[in-house]
Amino acid sequence: MPSSRHLVVVGASLAGLRAVEGARKTGFTGAITLVGAEPHLPYDRPPLSKGYLEPGMPPDTPVFRTEQTLRDELGVALVLGAEATALDTIRRVVEIGDRGIEYDAAVIATGAVARTLRGNAGLPGVHTLRTIEDAIAIRAALDSGARTVVIGAGFIGSEIASGARKRGLPVTVIEAQPTPLVRAVGEEMGAMCASLHQRNGTDLRCGVSVARVEGEHHVERVALSDGTSVDADLVVAGVGAVPATDWLHDSGLRLSDGVVCDETLFAGAPGVYAAGDVARWHNPLFERPMRLEHWTSAAEQGALAARNAVEPATAKPYATVPYFWSDLYGNRIQFVGIADADEVRMVDGDLDRDARCVALYRAGGRLVGAFAINGQSVIMKYRSMITTGATWSDALDFAGRRRPAVSPPR
Ligand code: FAD
Repeated sequence: MPSSRHLVVVGASLAGLRAVEGARKTGFTGAITLVGAEPHLPYDRPPLSKGYLEPGMPPDTPVFRTEQTLRDELGVALVLGAEATALDTIRRVVEIGDRGIEYDAAVIATGAVARTLRGNAGLPGVHTLRTIEDAIAIRAALDSGARTVVIGAGFIGSEIASGARKRGLPVTVIEAQPTPLVRAVGEEMGAMCASLHQRNGTDLRCGVSVARVEGEHHVERVALSDGTSVDADLVVAGVGAVPATDWLHDSGLRLSDGVVCDETLFAGAPGVYAAGDVARWHNPLFERPMRLEHWTSAAEQGALAARNAVEPATAKPYATVPYFWSDLYGNRIQFVGIADADEVRMVDGDLDRDARCVALYRAGGRLVGAFAINGQSVIMKYRSMITTGATWSDALDFAGRRRPAVSPPR
């Protein structure tokens, strides 16, 4: 039976919620406190760049659990609208200004914050998208028919472009790299995602960067490095996120693009574990450190970090094949594994002919990744194959068996 008496979880979003649920599931009967900087109950972020931007969708915050469930069923003391300002790992105290909360075990789940543009980030009409307040502001601008410029063709920026096009609004996406999403899915499939923009009337401009965001009282245009400019009423910077570790600077924890953890998510100070977008941990399945900004790993890490924090003597490693999805122009994009590959091969479908396709990623003789557009029926099979160390030829055999036989010409 777990021995820690007070578990404090810092960060009241997906990983933090799963942490409190995971602790209870494991039989922890001690006190749990959930500290969150936002005033809201934990809510789901993926809908914010998808359904939430559609006209006529209810304006409710997509919360995971009611306050009553958290308090009465999970026995959680909620401390919301309260930003942790420091972690004292010697006295075992989470500090919130001049208030201190003592812990026996702690889970750091403070996620990431959207990176902002240099210069005119504060100009009205210029946004990032991370929180419900950001989504409300972006939706209001779309409701009023904004000419939209998205800076950065990552998945969140691309989803905003997709939402704007669904309303028939003019959208330009500016991407500094020659091909978008190279780090996430590699060059070939990045180009495939780029083609979705072009097919759906989004003006995607690659290999050009933003010189200035201009406007007097409100954004008016975006000036580009090639000397051109694009008129805009709404600018959304989708230029990535940085792990929320500022509050940990004096904690003595190792910080390097996230909280550095071992394979059990242990952060290096007694009782302290980390989970979700803030955690950089050693993934034993790929024998390398990783920090993911994916829903599935944040949820799984939250549950395991809490379990390990309250039962450290039997701490288990977190080994996973990364997985994320995105929705672009009515297409479900999914990726499993890693994109760092020697070869990417299209094995099934054709986007033009079938409105679906599947590509596999090879490193040495192994299958290491799979990408699909509208390939929901198969992608998790490849995830399992990567987990069990399938060879490249096993993967190609499997793909060959799944391909529909081509009918002979009549
Ligand atoms: P976060 O969700 O970032 O939450 C961290 C929480 O900690 C926040 O509430 C923050 O306010 C709080 N906090 C920060 N600092 C402090 C502090 N000092 N004290 C107290 N609280 C603090 N993933 C996918 O796989 N597929 C998708 O389609 C997808 N779509 C997304 C769309 C959007 C718009 C966004 C923003 C993300 C999307 N993601 C998607 C990523 C996914 O939502 C994240 O991986 C997930 O939210 C990470 O959860 P987390 O709990 O680790 O961090």
